[in-house]
Parts: sequence; C-alpha cells; structure tokens
Amino acid sequence: MALRVVILGAGFGGLELSTMLSEAVADDVAVTLIDRSDSFVFGYSKLDVMFGRTTLDAVRLPYRDVVKPGVRFVRETISAIDPEARRVTTDAGVHEADVLVVALGADYDLDATPGLVEAGNEFYSVEGAERLAQLLPGFSAGRAIVGVCGAPFKCPPAPSEAALLLHDYLSERGVRAACEITVVIPFGTPVPPSPDTSEALVAAFAERGIEFVSSRRVASLDGARGVAVLDDGSELAFDLFLGVPKHRAPDVVVASGMTEDGYVPVSSQTLETRFPGVYAVGDVATVGVPKAGVFAEGAARVVAEALIASIRGSGPAGTYGGRGSCYVEFGGGRVGRVDVDFFSGPKPTGTFRTPTWTLVDEKREFGSSRRARWFGT
Ligand SMILES: Cc1cc2nc3c(=O)[nH]c(=O)nc-3n(C[C@H](O)[C@H](O)[C@H](O)COP(=O)(O)OP(=O)(O)OC[C@H]3O[C@@H](n4cnc5c(N)ncnc54)[C@H](O)[C@@H]3O)c2cc1C
Repeated sequence: MALRVVILGAGFGGLELSTMLSEAVADDVAVTLIDRSDSFVFGYSKLDVMFGRTTLDAVRLPYRDVVKPGVRFVRETISAIDPEARRVTTDAGVHEADVLVVALGADYDLDATPGLVEAGNEFYSVEGAERLAQLLPGFSAGRAIVGVCGAPFKCPPAPSEAALLLHDYLSERGVRAACEITVVIPFGTPVPPSPDTSEALVAAFAERGIEFVSSRRVASLDGARGVAVLDDGSELAFDLFLGVPKHRAPDVVVASGMTEDGYVPVSSQTLETRFPGVYAVGDVATVGVPKAGVFAEGAARVVAEALIASIRGSGPAGTYGGRGSCYVEFGGGRVGRVDVDFFSGPKPTGTFRTPTWTLVDEKREFGSSRRARWFGT
C-alpha cells in the first residue's frame, strides 16, 4: 500500500516536499498536493511586478505544469483540517491521509491596521503588487513611506529592498528630488541576525537620502489627515504608503486547533506537530527562524528525508539546521546575500556578501533551478 501523504499548500514548502518524494519514492507514495490557486509566484517577483520590471504573466508559474510520478495536484480550497483524524475537507470533498503536512503559509490581516485599506497600499500580495504597478507611475512628488504593520513578517529584508528600489524607480523617472522616502521597521536594525547586512543597508539608505525609522511599527493610517500613526503615538505625514500588512496563520489552520500564539508549534528538529503523523513547515509554523521561502524549503526537505527513510526502512533522517541564504536587492542593479544560521550557536548569526552583479546571476539561478525542479519548465 502506498503511503498517503496529503500536503496542504503548494508554496515553497509544499512544492519542495512533493518534488523530493516524487524523486525518491514515487512508487511507494500517493501524494495529494492541494492549493486554491492556479499558480505559484516567487515572493521577490512581487517587487519586480510592483516597480514595472516585469509583468505578472511573466512570473506566474502554473500548477498545471506540476506533473510528477506519485504526485497529484488538485486545485481546491481547504475549509477544514482535522489533525487527529488526519482528514482534510475542501470545496470538492474529503482527503484522508496517513501523513498530513500543513504548508499553508501566512495570510495578511489588513483590517488589523485601521486605514490601511482605505488610505494605503500593501505590496506583499500578488494583487497588491499589481495594483501598485498601476498606481506608482502617478506618484511624482511627495512623501512616500514603506512601513511594516506587524511582526513577524515574511522576508525581513523586503521592506528595505522596497525602499531602495523605490529610490531607483523615482530616480529613473527624474522625480526623486521631488520625493521623500521613509522606511519604518519594527526592529532595531533592518536585518537583526546580520549586523553587517544591516550596516550596509543603513549606509545605502543614508547615501540615497532615505530616512530610516527603527523599532517602530505602523499602527494605523489616518487618510483624512494623510498621516501614519506609529506604535508610540508619533505621526509621519505621507502621500504614498507602501505597507507590509500584519500577518497571521490562515483562518482554517487557526480553526483546526493546531495553533498557539497565532502559528503552529512544531519540533524545531523534526517539524512534527503534537498530532501524530502531522507536520507543519514554512511560514505557518513556529520554528524559531524567519518567515522566508528558503527556510520553508529547508524544513520541507527534513520532512521529506524522514518520510523517505521510513519508507526505505533506512536509518534516522537528519534534523533541521535552521540555515538559509537570502538575496537582498540593493538597487543600482546589484544584489547582496546574507547567509543566516539560527541553530548552530547560542544566538543567530548572519554572514554578509557585499552587493555585486555576480549575485544578480546567482539570484536568477536560485529562481530558475527551482522552477525547473518543481515545474519542469
Ligand atoms: C515581497 C516579498 C519578497 C520576498 N522575498 C523572498 C526572498 O527573496 N527569499 C525568500 O526565501 N523568501 C522571500 N519571501 C518570502 C516567501 O515568499 C515566503 O516566506 C514563502 O513563500 C513561504 O513558503 P510557504 O511554503 O510557507 O508558504 P507559501 O509559499 O505562502 O504557500 C502557501 C500556499 O498555501 C495556499 N493556501 C493558503 N490557504 C489555502 C486554503 N485555505 N486552501 C488551499 N490553499 C491555500 C496558498 O495559495 C499558497 O500557495 C518574500 C515574500 C514577499 C512578500
């Protein structure tokens, strides 16, 4: 009997897990990969879409291309998860699992920030990035804020990248001198585990006249007065607000009873939840690493190795290392890299690779290698 593995969510985590199982044990698994969407978009592609560097059609990877032995992709919306029975209900029926893997990512809670929908914009969803691609050409003068509305949030360098790319975008249009850019981040530094990366970003802000407000979160927007109210009550005037919305686990995960303090607690070594045969990987889980695709992928690999080892009856699989590399857009066509390690030492460490054009190619290869493995295109 093939092991029935039901994977909820075909993002970084779900795609890597299903690919590894197909590559290693296709004859011994029946993987059902469920996602409500028809396509996958890399997180960083949203920045490219927003600044008109590409189109959504060019970066959308359709799930119909996920054709792998042992794996069946179904486009369904998950409406209930029973972790004790390992049973999942969708808009199309019920899936029973021997092994259930929750990889549903994090949703956005726009209503948690009063005024965000009415007076601001978010660039973290595909729809938000597309809307901004239409709106940004109309911004030629005034005060722009890139502001984070809550932590934790995906890809901690992303707001800094957005501010630097906004500088380039306005400079290329010849309107930078008529605009101010402020970035508001709820951490003391842009990328806390890596002082070198943070220092380089703060220097890049200073060189470009971008104001950096640290250790503050945007609590609300007052559209009538055109001000962003920060969590200490101070105010910043804006004409354009580009927000990172507050994140939360998808409602269906919260309703399943699996969450504590908002997300699904798991073993940081094995990604197992407290329910036998149920794992959680990626942004939906609390593991002690940031919410980023590389960490979701690394966690998925550990689950895949454990399942492959149990199917083959081989020795125990490895444990999760909490390491990952993130590419950071510095503007001017250059990309830096930060290699972070969360579990090896007493505290997280990050090694910075200074921005170069070579790393632009490496970032491109990061995307194309995954596209080839996951989608065969
Ligand atoms: C602007 C931006 C830039 C980023 N840059 C980077 C970067 O450079 N490097 C990096 O590593 N990470 C980056 N990220 C973060 C990265 O995109 C996420 O951390 C990553 O996608 C998380 O993977 P995941 O598998 O946990 O969830 P996701 O990739 O979010 O996948 C979850 C899936 O679950 C599906 N789903 C949710 N609810 C349901 C439901 N009820 N029914 C069916 N399906 C459902 C969704 O459709 C989605 O496809 C960036 C993110 C943003 C927003």
